[in-house]
Amino acid sequence: MAATPAWPPKSTPRLFVEEALGEGVALRIDGPQAHYLLSVMRLKAGDPVRLCDDRTGEWLGVISATAKRDLVVGVEAQLRPREDVPDLWLAVAPIRKARFDFVAEKACELGVARFLPVLMQRCVADKVKPDRLRAQMIEAAEQCGRTALPEVADVQTLDRFLKGFPAGRTLIFADEEGGAPLADVVRTASCAAILIGPEGGFADAERAAILAHPSAVGVSLGPRILRAETAALAAVAVWMAGQA
Ligand code: SAM
Repeated sequence: MAATPAWPPKSTPRLFVEEALGEGVALRIDGPQAHYLLSVMRLKAGDPVRLCDDRTGEWLGVISATAKRDLVVGVEAQLRPREDVPDLWLAVAPIRKARFDFVAEKACELGVARFLPVLMQRCVADKVKPDRLRAQMIEAAEQCGRTALPEVADVQTLDRFLKGFPAGRTLIFADEEGGAPLADVVRTASCAAILIGPEGGFADAERAAILAHPSAVGVSLGPRILRAETAALAAVAVWMAGQA
């Protein structure tokens, strides 16, 4: 006997919405999301949509009405609860826009809980657009199946980051000048923040201030000098693998 196909099908589009979701909610969708569903995905009444609100998880929606520029989706049932997000922060010095977007996208895919842009002396870029970062992360979350979005913190100086760093969280300092092997550190750091420097690296005074912090552990990502985006991606991946 042929197995009944899974519903909704894997190909069902996923969207993050601002509104709180719940059984019986009728959601009006317009703007770019409506364009995507109606014109790109060519959905029509009766088609399913997976909806996430970053609070209650993922829900099955069914399109009940469509118009030229908007549509109404009836929320029917919860498909998955909001995920348990691994307790990892990624604190990164802003780097060139396209590369910073890449870091934000990969941090989301890899499961990071919080993304903190931290200004340092040798930053090439000093402007960060939180809305742009959040849009990158929403797109990444819709693609990779996350039901929770990373929180994007306001840009802050290294001094403020260190002063506000919470006790009980390990500050994993990716130091291009060397440190403990990251793989050895991650096993005992299930509540952590990884700190990655800018294209120009950490200034000596910054390195001294970080290493003086009681929660800081300097780690090496190997003998080669990695680009900041490579270091961020590699360090988060090793940490995630170490929690499995
Ligand atoms: N300008 C620096 C230099 O030439 O020494 C390189 C900085 S690197 C492009 C940017 C950041 O990636 C560093 O500040 C560090 O946080 C991280 N990183 C790069 N390679 C690393 C390594 N082998 N071990 C630990 N962290 C590394």
